[in-house]
Amino acid sequence: MAATLLLDFDGTITVQDVSTEILRRFAKGDWKVWDRRAITFQVPVYQALREQFRMVDADKEEVLKFIDEKIEVREGFEEFIGFLAKRGVPWAVLSEGLDFYMERVMGRFHLRPGAIFAYRSWFEGRHIELQPQWIWEGCERCGTCKRRIVKAFKHLGIVIYVGDSVTDFCVADVVDYLFARGKLEAFAKKMNISFIHYDNFYDVMKGVEMILEGEK
Ligand SMILES: [Mg+2]
Ligand SMILES: [Zn+2]
Repeated sequence: MAATLLLDFDGTITVQDVSTEILRRFAKGDWKVWDRRAITFQVPVYQALREQFRMVDADKEEVLKFIDEKIEVREGFEEFIGFLAKRGVPWAVLSEGLDFYMERVMGRFHLRPGAIFAYRSWFEGRHIELQPQWIWEGCERCGTCKRRIVKAFKHLGIVIYVGDSVTDFCVADVVDYLFARGKLEAFAKKMNISFIHYDNFYDVMKGVEMILEGEK
């Protein structure tokens, strides 16, 4: 049966959360107040992110340089993507983050997923503007509603998902195979959802290899 590999970006492909790192480094003012408003459901996540990235005070070159120096990719990522190519498994990125930094980070390895489901983003003077592209009418929360996207991919076959945190909670019970660490792992345990633990992409590669063998 055909399989698709769907990956979260921040905290999964990367070690750090890139949005948080950019805001920590470059945002002027109380950007954290928007995190609290989003967590307590006073505003949708995309509205909080839009306000936060408008507080950035830096030009594009500065931000890209910071990303190149600060952001690490999880061990084994490049090898894992090579493995997927060899096995003919398509992959895509699903993220509540901004496309410009994903392209930058994956560009280090000249890697291009089949699709990036994320916020469209661009620099305007010394701040960053963003536009959610995957809002779902059934969801008040996300700018990239992963649950809806995963369900679309399920029409093509089995869905294997790799994630780490709160933005992945809503797909935990709809994917066929869940690779989890961090808050997502704790959530899966609490909700009695079966998952495969991983620390790096060598672990994921081993797990996916077994899944592909089993699904033959
Ligand atoms: Mg994440
Ligand atoms: Zn949603």
